[in-house]
Order: sequence, then C-alpha cells, then structure tokens
Amino acid sequence: MSDNLYLQFYPHFERQPDKVLMHTQESTDYRYADVLASSRRMASVLISLGITPGDRIAIQVDKSPEIVMFYLACLQVGAVYLPLNTAYTDNEIHYFLSDAEPHVFICRPQDHDTIRVTAEQCGVTHIESLGTHADGSFMEKVATATQTQEVCEVAGDDLAAILYTSGTTGRSKGAMLSHTNLASNSQALTQAWQYSEHDHLIHALPIFHTHGLFVACNITLLNGASMTFLPKLDVDQLIDLMPRATVLMGVPTFYSRLLQSPRLSREVVSNMRLFISGSAPLLAETHEAFEQRTGHAILERYGMTETNMNTSNPYQGKRRPGTVGMPLSGVEIRIADRESGASLPQGETGMVELRGPNVFQGYWRMPEKTQAEFRDDGFFITGDLGCIDEHGYLNIVGRDKDLVISGGYNVYPKEIELLIDDLSGVSESAVVGVPHADLGEGVIAVVVREAQGEVSEASILAALSDQLARYKQPKQVFFAPALPRNVMGKVQKNQLRDTFADTFA
Ligand code: ATP
Ligand code: MG
Repeated sequence: MSDNLYLQFYPHFERQPDKVLMHTQESTDYRYADVLASSRRMASVLISLGITPGDRIAIQVDKSPEIVMFYLACLQVGAVYLPLNTAYTDNEIHYFLSDAEPHVFICRPQDHDTIRVTAEQCGVTHIESLGTHADGSFMEKVATATQTQEVCEVAGDDLAAILYTSGTTGRSKGAMLSHTNLASNSQALTQAWQYSEHDHLIHALPIFHTHGLFVACNITLLNGASMTFLPKLDVDQLIDLMPRATVLMGVPTFYSRLLQSPRLSREVVSNMRLFISGSAPLLAETHEAFEQRTGHAILERYGMTETNMNTSNPYQGKRRPGTVGMPLSGVEIRIADRESGASLPQGETGMVELRGPNVFQGYWRMPEKTQAEFRDDGFFITGDLGCIDEHGYLNIVGRDKDLVISGGYNVYPKEIELLIDDLSGVSESAVVGVPHADLGEGVIAVVVREAQGEVSEASILAALSDQLARYKQPKQVFFAPALPRNVMGKVQKNQLRDTFADTFA
C-alpha cells in the first residue's frame, strides 16, 4: 500500500472530471480533467529529466494554477517539492539551492538567463522556467509530452516537501515534511472546518508558504472542492468574489484591509460560511470589528512550517478573540517551562510543545538543530510561548526569541502591546528589548498612530504607569509610520531590534 498523498486527491479527478477546480482572475477555468492531464504530462517531463524518488525539485515562480499541477506532478513521481519565496534574491537563492541540492530548478522566464549561473554553481542539473501564462521552457516540454499515469509508491514518512521557514527569527531552515504529515493535517482540518466538495475558496495568499500551499490547496484537493486564484491581496477582488465563494483564508492584514472598505457588509458575505486567519496574531479589535460589520466571527488558527496546523478555534462553539483555539484531532499540546522542560499547570505561560502526525521529520541537513528542538518523548519545542486558558483555548503570547529579560525579569511583549493598542489614537505597536548596560535588555515600544491619532510618548507612558509593574514599562516610545512586516503579515522584530539597538548605548 502506497501512502502517497497524491492518492488521497486522485479519486476526485476520476469522479468529477468536468468540475472546475481552479478559476483565475482572467476567468480561465481549469477543470479537474484538465489539471489531471497537465500534471500527468508534467510528471512525464520530470521523469525525462531524470527525476527519481526523493530528488528535490525547487521552484521559484509567480503564482499561477500551473504551480498546483506541478506540485501534483512532483507528488506523483515521488519527488520532494521545494517552493521558494518569490522575493528571494540571487544571493538567497544561492543559499537555498546549495543547501537543498535540487536536481531541477524552475524559475520565472525572465530570470532564466541570470539565475542559470547561480543554479549551475549549486550543482542543479536542469534549469527550466514557468510563467504565469502557461509559458516558459518547462511548459514547452509539457506541450509535447505524453501523460504518465503511474504513481510512485512511497511510505508515509517519505518526504513530500521541504519548506523553508519564513526566517523571522534567523536564517530559514528547511522543514522536511512527509506524505503522512501533510495528509493527516489536511484530514484534521477538513474535520475541524467541516470542509466539503461544495466549498469554494478565495485563494489570495502566496503559494510558496504553508498557509497558501498546504492549508489552502491540500484541503481543496482532498475534498474535491474548488478555488479562485488571485495573484495577491486586492480587497475589491475579494469582495467581488464573496457572493460566489464560501471560504476565505487570510493573514490578519486581509481582515484589517477588508474593514477599511465601505463595501464590506452583511449582504456581501451572505454566501460565505467561513473566514479563517493565521500566520500572525489577529488583533482582538479586528476580530470584533469584523464580527460587528459582517456577523462572522473570524476563525483563528495556529500553525507553523514545521508542523502544518496545530490548533484551531472551533467551527461550532465560541471563537475566542485573541486565542488560537484548541488542538486539532491527533495533536497533543503541552506548556512547558522554557528552561527545564517540565510541564506547567494550566494557566501558566511557557513554551508551547507539541506532538502528533503533523510534526515534521526534522530540519534538512541540520541533525543537531533537529535534536535540540525535540524532547526525549517526541514533543517538538515550537519556540512560541503561550498558555492555555480555563476554557482549554491556547493563547500565543509571542516567540521565545522575542521574550525580553530586563533586570532578570521576564517581560512578555504581548502584554504591553495589548495595553498600548487599546489606547485611543494608537493603530498598533510592537514591544522589543534592546541592549541595556544595567538591565541586560531595556524595554522599548514602537507605536503606529492612527490617521488622526495624537498620542505622544508621555501620554502612552502615563497611561501605562498604573497598569504595569515598573520593569515592564517601556523606557522609551518611538513612533513609526508602519511596523516592518513580511508578506505573511509577520512583524519583523529582528529588524526593530537592529534599528533601535543603540537606544541605551
Ligand atoms: P522562522 O522559524 O524562520 O523564524 P517563522 O517562525 O515566522 O520563521 P513560519 O513557520 O512561517 O516561520 O511561522 C510560524 C510562526 O508564526 C509560529 O511559530 C508563530 O510564531 C506564528 N503564528 C502562526 N499563526 C499564528 C497565530 N494565529 N497567532 C500568533 N502567531 C502565529
Ligand atoms: Mg519558526
């Protein structure tokens, strides 16, 4: 029996060849039969390029439905799919290619000539291109290829993909994900979100990250559902699509931007059944404002590249703003002391650790790092700090690496950020620790004012003075037009720490 994830998707291709799997903005429809035929041709091209099971195939191209077909082809031939952020520069690509040593690298047609040198230096044997209009050298080969039907036999723990982490806390690491990791998570999410073939997803996320790739595409394929591909977030397009869609998956920015549109209303979302948020913390205010405007409580979930999704607020039952919900089926979560690893009682804040069929096989070619991130009993140390509330919901309070230790005391930035965010005139804030001669680290806050906001450093400090112990109070407040975020909406605290490193020098 093969555990190839491809076989979990395949029955829908047989059962409903004429159903449209993907629509695009240009109103091009891709039926299940079209996707099957194209992906089978792609599989035969990959075999002709000498791909054998376990070979890595790296791809850095702009979003298009062809990528989904290409991903299916990689699964079909037992290769390891390795998508790369389209923002990576030549230098970064050099790191990823020399680390992963892919046999094939697929790039954008316009990059083909320039990236070739880098890829060849890294030992890539075949460099092909794929464009957003089904163009490029790879697609030329596909056009004349025959269809391969054979599906590679794999074991459940064989690798289906290597996904590099977002690099928020340091250099990206390659997370090795098996066929069972991906399949089990998609099944758990199907159950948690009551997903079905009737669902139509608005897909406006990047497709190189776990959210847009595995959460969004795997659940669609596993259920024989459908989706509309948008190249990027465009609020008007999202709203235009809502009357024909049922689900939206977004990062928090999607929801704050939607709320800025006067077009967002109860009427416009009347066909939608589910709004999902993840990848970065959703402000409770955004959650509440969205519910007031649309009648929908956004469902927030928590996951990471290494583990797919871990927890979700319930589909039925209370979705608690500011929490990421409860463990998905099969996932065990515990909160442990960050140093000793001892389990902490409910309500206490510590390291979030988890175990389950979703947890990855380790970091690619980093055995020591892998070993360091697992406890002896198989629990993965996520690097996120959190606590479980009295209702059993997980609260993420931030990353361990963002914890500030000032004068020997632990300061959890989120506690301070929540208070600052609540002040009138404040849009959002980020609290970080920077070097301080006496205290080790000194707490500072970087605040974004609302358009008409008039808050000052003095008014913020005054408001916090009777709400926080002295050691938690920011020593300085800076104002910025925006917080530095990456494409997944994650605040780049590293960048803030660098910018303000000399504050107490
Ligand atoms: P790196 O590991 O390279 O530093 P990264 O952790 O940002 O980068 P990802 O795997 O893309 O890379 O992100 C996972 C992280 O995103 C989680 O560990 C967590 O910190 C954060 N995250 C995801 N969903 C949520 C959420 N709903 N609320 C708060 N944080 C979240
Ligand atoms: Mg991480």
